[in-house]
Amino acid sequence: MKEKPSRPSVPELNFGRALEYAPSPEATSVPLRKRYDLFIDGEFVLPTDGATYETINPATGKKLATLAEAGPADLDRAVEAARRALRGPWGSLAPRERGKYLFRIARMIQERSRELAILETMDNGKPIRETRDIDLPLVAAHFFYHAGWADKLAYAFPGRAARPIGVAGQIIPWNFPLLMMAWKIAPALACGNTVVLKPAETTSITALHLAEIFQDAGLPKGVVNIVTGDGSLGERIVRHPGIDKIAFTGSTEVGKSIAKAVAGTPKKLTLELGGKAAHIVMEDASLDEAVEGIVNGIYFNQGHVCCAGSRLLVQEGIHDAVVERLRHRLQTLRLGDPLDKNTDVGAIHSAGQLAKINELVASGVAEGACLVQSDCPIPEGGGFWFRPGYFTGVSPSHRIAREEIFGPVLSILTFRTPQEAIERANNTAYGLSAGIWTQKGSRILKMASQLKAGVVWANTYNKFDPASPFGGYKESGFGREGGLQGLSAYVRVESGGR
Ligand code: NAP
Ligand code: MG
Repeated sequence: MKEKPSRPSVPELNFGRALEYAPSPEATSVPLRKRYDLFIDGEFVLPTDGATYETINPATGKKLATLAEAGPADLDRAVEAARRALRGPWGSLAPRERGKYLFRIARMIQERSRELAILETMDNGKPIRETRDIDLPLVAAHFFYHAGWADKLAYAFPGRAARPIGVAGQIIPWNFPLLMMAWKIAPALACGNTVVLKPAETTSITALHLAEIFQDAGLPKGVVNIVTGDGSLGERIVRHPGIDKIAFTGSTEVGKSIAKAVAGTPKKLTLELGGKAAHIVMEDASLDEAVEGIVNGIYFNQGHVCCAGSRLLVQEGIHDAVVERLRHRLQTLRLGDPLDKNTDVGAIHSAGQLAKINELVASGVAEGACLVQSDCPIPEGGGFWFRPGYFTGVSPSHRIAREEIFGPVLSILTFRTPQEAIERANNTAYGLSAGIWTQKGSRILKMASQLKAGVVWANTYNKFDPASPFGGYKESGFGREGGLQGLSAYVRVESGGR
């Protein structure tokens, strides 16, 4: 008699190494130029003194392009162009016409989003999955959202007149180049301002491709001007007398120096600075969901996010279960070519950023915390890489529990009661974001109201929407971007009438 075939056993959870996937590289047939000039008064122009610098691909360490370095005379030209546009074609345009430009720009970004995502990944080092599925859709969404506000400011500020502030000087960091640009330019234009923007020195390429879209959309000359260069150019923007408002996203250190420089001047200021966000995982949380949220919050973006969930506060009874899940999940993360569609963890943005991560991680080991890292292979052939990992045995006084690592490294601490969790989460100089993981809705509401963080996510993490204001408390800065609150950073509100 034939033996009955035995039933296939239920597959065990595969907590082993990542399955090997065939490489799935994104096509790189994008219009990457050899050199990029300044975008002033609607034209691409050479810098007055001819100075240039190079930008590299962090995944290879190789040069991508040469960029123009704006000197003082170039900045003056950009500010004058922005002021002329304000007095002229842009300032006199009906709000609904401003809205049409923003809608047009949003649609053109959607049409060219694949190309922009590839260029962003090449210049920044973040995985194509992130630029393609998160950054670019959000960039378009910000232009669409603010296009809708352009002719409805009377509803945003009822009974009062909302007038543009004037020329906005905008300075952005390297971690979300296009997205930070959209967060700054879309509300400024919707409210009738003009702009002089400086991208980060290491990620300026996509800003200049967006400038091409502004040209193609027929945006009047001088409404947006893009000047490229290093931090000293940022400093000159901050001090320029022809600029009425400074919007800055970057480090707390530079933010403080900007606040000092602007103090006593009529310039308006918003600062979006660093963070040291805490995930709070309660005993009743769905652990698999929580671990996935934690992984998303710190590893998928190399930890290069101001609101990265870089501290994990776990209730004591589930500490071992969470750490065990995390250890296995870490082994399945794919680190490698950012242009490969299977890559989870891309390249560290620069040699300088890698050195900062290494220094802080070494301090964690020296202070007695225990480091666990993925043993994934590091790509050969150059570039900057860091194996994702976490620290256990962390005490709140350790530097890795207090300072922004800005890399794929998590610091795990424990707590006993919800009150202790709140105290630990708030025990930081920053106050940008936090995450709560629990099945109890009432607990979410209570804890969220006690957390000193501008954004609190519950049972999810790193979710953004242009209608939702984003910004910090304490050393994470002030002012909001997005939503109704974000508009008020770009208007002077006068009482009475429209
Ligand atoms: P950063 O050094 O402060 O640089 C940010 C921008 O400021 C860059 O364009 C930079 O130019 C420019 N800059 C440098 N020195 C300046 C000065 N003295 N005056 C005016 N501008 C100056 O920050 P980063 O290291 O590039 O970015 C990472 C930091 O940004 C992290 O701390 C992160 O938390 C924070 N961040 C915050 C948010 C948020 O929304 N809260 C979002 C993203 C990032 P160069 O790059 O050319 O030097
Ligand atoms: Mg680069």
